[in-house]
Amino acid sequence: MPSEFTGKHVTVAGLGVSGVPAAKVLHGLGAHVTVVNDGDDERARAQAAELEALGVTVRLGDGDTLPEGTELIVTAPGWKPTKPLFTAAGQAGVPVWGDVELAWRLRGLDGRKPAPWLAVTGTNGKTTTVQMLASILKAAGLRTAAVGNIGVSLLDAVTGDTEYDVLAVELSSYQLHWAPSLRAHSAAVLNLAPDHLDWHGSMEAYAADKGRIYEGNQVACVYNADATDKPSTEDLVRGADVEEGCRAIGFTLGTPGPSQLGVVEGLLVDRAFVEDRQKNAQELAEVSDVNPPAPHNIANALAAAGLARAFGVSAAAVRDGLRAFTPDAHRIAHVADVDGVAYVDDSKATNTHATEASLAAYESIVWIAGGLAKGATFDALVAGAAKRLRGAVLIGADRALIREALARHAPEVPVVDLDRTDTGAMLQAVQEARRLARPGDTVLLAPACASMDMFTNYNQRGDAFAQAVRELGA
Ligand code: ADP
Repeated sequence: MPSEFTGKHVTVAGLGVSGVPAAKVLHGLGAHVTVVNDGDDERARAQAAELEALGVTVRLGDGDTLPEGTELIVTAPGWKPTKPLFTAAGQAGVPVWGDVELAWRLRGLDGRKPAPWLAVTGTNGKTTTVQMLASILKAAGLRTAAVGNIGVSLLDAVTGDTEYDVLAVELSSYQLHWAPSLRAHSAAVLNLAPDHLDWHGSMEAYAADKGRIYEGNQVACVYNADATDKPSTEDLVRGADVEEGCRAIGFTLGTPGPSQLGVVEGLLVDRAFVEDRQKNAQELAEVSDVNPPAPHNIANALAAAGLARAFGVSAAAVRDGLRAFTPDAHRIAHVADVDGVAYVDDSKATNTHATEASLAAYESIVWIAGGLAKGATFDALVAGAAKRLRGAVLIGADRALIREALARHAPEVPVVDLDRTDTGAMLQAVQEARRLARPGDTVLLAPACASMDMFTNYNQRGDAFAQAVRELGA
């Protein structure tokens, strides 16, 4: 079937998770596809060989030269907007789309009615919220999937054989940057803390990219009514150009006002999607239905509920969906209790904002932290958590930064500084934590740092922690 891509010269920027499938789909639609890639390693060569066998042109080792005749670039979301390739595209008037824009444009190409998108972004909590949302939508009997970074890829979701009624879509700030025409049914920005600023250039630019998720929303823009950061997610809603009648819906851990979802006496309640919201509220679920019932996760549940309710889902389905949800590994995962001490793996807390939420969830903590700081500072984090720290065990390359923050803001907290990065380091860290802990405490791995100095990724770091805890208990 001919399409707007038939015969078009499309350059795909970057092999990899999004590039290879994008090149295949575009080639299948009859486009002349050239893939450019900075790297020229073994993996890239294998991927190139696979694409070349289909008839796709691949240029390895040069991701900066715009191939002659290019009419459209489809880029991997992580490529920086300042790359020479994009400067050249700008000069030549060539549009640049990311993987999300491509998926958005491919909707309905097969003649089927496209499924609306309920979209989620934020600095932290995206994956969890999207999974909660998908669970709620499923409980409502809808055909859906959690797509984006997790589960089904966006491209598969819009071009595959499975039919969906609605999609729960996770979007990063990079993806939003490159998705100018995306128009979600409803969208949520969970929170906004400085992250990836080297890529976006400034906090303003980062916030602006996140805010694009609200552009053209049809039913609801869901924002965090508790946020104190500036710009707030509510500011982003105000700045968006939405469809006539689209509502701003806040979520709060406190008592909700009209057009908000919130918490009243241990219940998640909806004061937005009810008749006469000045006077009425609808009970959705109990706080204990949220797994784990940590404050930040209740916020995620409220955001997911807000999007589901905007789509017309019943209160009972919200409750059933939340009850059926189990979080992914390494996100506040309770590993074991040993001698009255709980051991919790939040290895996914790779930045200070996530760690702040994690530390807020427990009363008395032995904190295992450290790794690659990625330019972060730890003063506010440590000052905010000082009262709840029984002790700290520091690991990894940038642990001195955390040690210094502890010395400044929590000088009475005992600190163990582990000067080793071998595979036995985590076991020693857990042993030291056990020594510091008292019954009733929580030993919490919430590193506030990336893991790559010592581990392949946060999964491996979390697995090492869990393994060490098991060895304690043995
Ligand atoms: P993302 O997909 O945005 O990275 P995840 O759901 O995978 O988010 O969670 C990442 C980390 O952020 C986890 O360590 C978790 O404890 C923390 N987190 C989850 N939700 C929130 C939230 N609403 N606010 C702050 N931190 C959060």
